[in-house]
Amino acid sequence: MSTIANNIAKVAARIREAAQAVGRNPDEVHLLAVSKTQSAEAIRQAHAAGLRDFGENYVQEALEKQTALADLPLAWHFIGPIQSNKTKSIAEHFDWVHSVDRLKIAQRLSDQRPVDKPPLDICLQVNVSGEASKSGCEPHEVAELARRIAELPRLRLRGLMTIPAPTDDLAEQHAAFARLRQLQADLALNLDTLSMGMSQDLEAAIAEGATWVRIGTALFGARDYGTPSA
Ligand SMILES: *Cc1c(COP(=O)(O)O)cnc(C)c1O
Repeated sequence: MSTIANNIAKVAARIREAAQAVGRNPDEVHLLAVSKTQSAEAIRQAHAAGLRDFGENYVQEALEKQTALADLPLAWHFIGPIQSNKTKSIAEHFDWVHSVDRLKIAQRLSDQRPVDKPPLDICLQVNVSGEASKSGCEPHEVAELARRIAELPRLRLRGLMTIPAPTDDLAEQHAAFARLRQLQADLALNLDTLSMGMSQDLEAAIAEGATWVRIGTALFGARDYGTPSA
């Protein structure tokens, strides 16, 4: 078995055990393979080992890999910070966007979503950790933003997403994810998605209701952002 296939099996086992520990059906928890900085070849191996959904943070990098992998039936998720001048590419080339955190970006994505594609699946990113994290809307903005995004014709608001401040403290992990779950429950919009949990904290996220866990390091190993040549 390749390292990636081996890692996938280990992550799948962690997901299954975490779900079963709280009486959830493991099939409710989907695995998003975060492939930023990884090669098209690594994605090809992950697909051969059974994965279909891949998350990318940088538009240009993602488009290059999508071209190289156009022969595979993959689903692409955009999970990084979004600049206005990138919304057209994102609306045209992705199936999901997990990192929408303001109305202007949502409106552009809706306007720019090609008519021959289904509505773009969207998560509203929320900053549940206060000062410690910069991305995401504030919790008090969620109700109004979610209501406005849900009205946009070419988007389908699926739920909320968060990246809490990293911590080894299990109680803090649970508290952050529970906060996101409660914000979603308060909306009463009938949303089906909570995108939360990464390599270090997927167990806590699943215990608190995650339906997508976004996993990079535990699948592909440590990321190499490139070292300056000597
Ligand atoms: C990089 C990244 C991940 C994956 O993190 P790991 O700790 O490598 O599993 C998940 N979500 C987002 C938004 C990311 O940018």
